[in-house]
Amino acid sequence: MPAGHYGGLTYAQRNKVPRLSDAHEIGQFVRLDCAICKISRHYLPEDIQKLCGDVNAFQLRGQFRCERCGQKDSVSASFVTLLAREKVGLVIRRLERIEIKHVPIWRDVTL
Ligand SMILES: [Zn+2]
Repeated sequence: MPAGHYGGLTYAQRNKVPRLSDAHEIGQFVRLDCAICKISRHYLPEDIQKLCGDVNAFQLRGQFRCERCGQKDSVSASFVTLLAREKVGLVIRRLERIEIKHVPIWRDVTL
């Protein structure tokens, strides 16, 4: 596995970075921030894990598109611990369902 392709971290360092399952165990949330729109959304780690697997916050970079500006590069992910008072009234985006789209793939065939 090539080193240095993970936010500047080596393979050994990367394995020490907390993953979604770790964040779930200690009650953290996943926060996605768009640097352009200055908006943040909170998610439960287990919902994100259903989509992306048990990855860490660095590996979530580029996986999500901002719903407002449509950019992927501007969205960063982090695991956050919120105080009880910060959770009051907090809107969390929950995964309702995953839809699978069937996309036709065509190829030309010479007769
Ligand atoms: Zn945006």
